[in-house]
Amino acid sequence: MEYFNSELETLSRSKLRKLQNERLQWQVKRVYERVAFYKNLFDENGIDPKEIKGLDDLHKLPFTKKVALRDNYPFALFASSMEDVVRLHCSSGTTGKPIVVGYTKNDIDVFSEVVARSLVAAGCRRGMKLQNAYGYGLFTGGLGLHYGAEKLGMTVIPISGGGTEKQLLLLQDFQSEAICCTPSYALTIAEAAQRESILDKINLRYAILGAEPWTESIRAEVENKLKVKATNIYGLSEIIGPGVSQEDVDEPGTGSYIWEDHFFPEIVDKDSGEPLPEGKEGVLVFTTLTKEAMPLLRYWTNDITSIYYDKSAKRTHVKMGSIIGRSDDMLIIRGVNLFHTQVGAALENFIEFSSNYQLVVTHEHTMDDVEVRVEISDVLYSALGKENQDALSHEKIMQAHQRLQRKLKDNIGLTMKLIVSVPGTIPRSEGGKLNRILDLRKAGVVPV
Ligand code: ADP
Repeated sequence: MEYFNSELETLSRSKLRKLQNERLQWQVKRVYERVAFYKNLFDENGIDPKEIKGLDDLHKLPFTKKVALRDNYPFALFASSMEDVVRLHCSSGTTGKPIVVGYTKNDIDVFSEVVARSLVAAGCRRGMKLQNAYGYGLFTGGLGLHYGAEKLGMTVIPISGGGTEKQLLLLQDFQSEAICCTPSYALTIAEAAQRESILDKINLRYAILGAEPWTESIRAEVENKLKVKATNIYGLSEIIGPGVSQEDVDEPGTGSYIWEDHFFPEIVDKDSGEPLPEGKEGVLVFTTLTKEAMPLLRYWTNDITSIYYDKSAKRTHVKMGSIIGRSDDMLIIRGVNLFHTQVGAALENFIEFSSNYQLVVTHEHTMDDVEVRVEISDVLYSALGKENQDALSHEKIMQAHQRLQRKLKDNIGLTMKLIVSVPGTIPRSEGGKLNRILDLRKAGVVPV
């Protein structure tokens, strides 16, 4: 079984486009008739919904931005009657006030379908046990993965995020073959399993990781420690939740399939909003083609990535690269744009350091500054203090420090203070998303 839905996942590009065009026309008509916000948007911009005949006309529509969701809080963007809304979720509120999203029964079916497709792409199969360590509750991750895994026929262990000791216990006792959680929490679990010396007692094969940006060095560390294949799952509450896109376990490093029969992606310039060609990095914008309760047209996700057609891939759907960051999370330091993932990416191939990192932002003498904190890898650290090894390891660390500092300067164009500390000193995820930026500017705190 290579696909959950082979027909739709491998539909020819021309048939897929036809389906998307039909669905878009249906959606545009629907939101115009049912959502005051969209009716006004069309009318104010002099756009007749009938003008939107297909995806080629999409660019005529203005973007829908997050502010529209806040202005219409809680339910004014809903296109279904409340009687048909069977579930509400909220975004986790990483940035600002939470926003509310709603689902009809059909939306939940679509959500489950795209998650089931994603799980199959990640290597999961019917009958495998999935330890679902995404948070259950208002966050879309827990229930989203739960319903999708059930639809596939997996045995779901709804443990939710956190409670690392319990996670380890169930990994051993239930012999879960797959786990889903944030990549930072997968690292927490891997480190704990290593500390407790139980790595050879667990049976994990696949890790489905998402909900926050991550890097190849985090992937390598999770895969090496837990002996799994780790793939990326991406999504956002506004569009449906996790399962908007997913990497295939057999196509590593080639991006994540966007299930574009449901979510049509565009990449646009972050300043001008102009559509960008295949392969160019910009803001990811989605139009929900089938969503009933809360459809969105040209939703500006703020996530920065690129999309491309992988001609040699198993599926016909477009792929997206990893998320470099959210445009509203971008730091501007002495005129240079900086995403924390650029620092994480620089750590790749540094066996001297772990994949954990943190950026501390300060403001001193009218200037913003960033300090990068990394950790010595546990292998190297355990060699420290041992006879004959000590001097050698210190020398290695000093050299790696210089090399990383140079790499950061070359890759990003900024000279940043680099602090190397012992393993375990950088904050870890306790179950959910990890904030890798400690911003001391507003607090007026001077770092120690
Ligand atoms: P919030 O905006 O409050 O974090 P969500 O829980 O809906 O709300 O999170 C969605 C966001 O999480 C996405 O817009 C994106 O920034 C981030 N995200 C989700 N999955 C991934 C992923 N696989 N890689 C990078 N970022 C991701």
